[in-house]
Amino acid sequence: MIYNYTIGHLKHPAFDNVYYCVLLAYLFCFTLEIVLPKQRQHGTITRKGFWLDIFYVLFNDIIVYSIGLFGICAVTELIFLKGLGVFGIHDLKVADITSWNPAIQILIMFLLQDFSEFIAHYLLHRFDFLWIFHKIHHAQDTLGAASTRRFHFVEMFVFKPLIYIPFAMIGYSVVDYYLFQITVQNVWGFFTHSNIKVKWGFLNYIINTPETHAWHHAKNIPRKLGVNYASILNIWDIIFGFYYVPKDKTPIIGVPDQKNMPTTFISQFFYPFKMILSGKYKSEIDAQILEPNSKKKKQ
Ligand SMILES: [Zn+2]
Ligand SMILES: [Zn+2]
Repeated sequence: MIYNYTIGHLKHPAFDNVYYCVLLAYLFCFTLEIVLPKQRQHGTITRKGFWLDIFYVLFNDIIVYSIGLFGICAVTELIFLKGLGVFGIHDLKVADITSWNPAIQILIMFLLQDFSEFIAHYLLHRFDFLWIFHKIHHAQDTLGAASTRRFHFVEMFVFKPLIYIPFAMIGYSVVDYYLFQITVQNVWGFFTHSNIKVKWGFLNYIINTPETHAWHHAKNIPRKLGVNYASILNIWDIIFGFYYVPKDKTPIIGVPDQKNMPTTFISQFFYPFKMILSGKYKSEIDAQILEPNSKKKKQ
């Protein structure tokens, strides 16, 4: 279903077509990076990893999201139903809000998804065997709009289907979830990774901006003390104590052992599996240096 939808829409460009909306969102952020570059020395196109990020956009947005996500969500739903069947439950739906006022539906879906993304992101940092996959996203020297899609496909195949379950519980199909995911979260990701010289002021307390997300990518903040996990609403970080945006400082982007990280798509694809099979993913050493003026947090 999603496959046919994808191919059909890719063949017929239109402004109300989800793939072209995503493309326009990317081009908009890309234009902003050219007009308002934050770190001029990196260059919008010449920055390290730009073309690899573009490849990840194509790979993850077209192949993984369009074809893989639908299938894996359907399988996850089936597994949940089979499991719950043991207890005599044969339908995931506990409520059906699909006939409610559209504005309220959008608000509920938005809050549900954004909070679920926040929790999933926290878990990706917290557990060694998850971090080794998510580390591919953090192993970047520079950020640009397309950096948002540099992530290992396993990361998505584990969490996106789980985030779909709450959607199924309130009456939405995989297709509804998928379109919502793409038009809201995926578009926002381009913005938060943009290399643009804008101070967002009080908005940093409300929404995830390029300023707040850059600190999430800071090399010298140990990941187990990580900060700014939010996808869109920073309120989750403020509530749970992960919000961190020091004034008048710029983070150094990357991971502590950046120089040892693979730099090609294929080597990044195999990296987490190699580390897990060799048992090295558990002994990875985090940076022990916090930002000089920051308060040391408890672990
Ligand atoms: Zn992260
Ligand atoms: Zn990121």
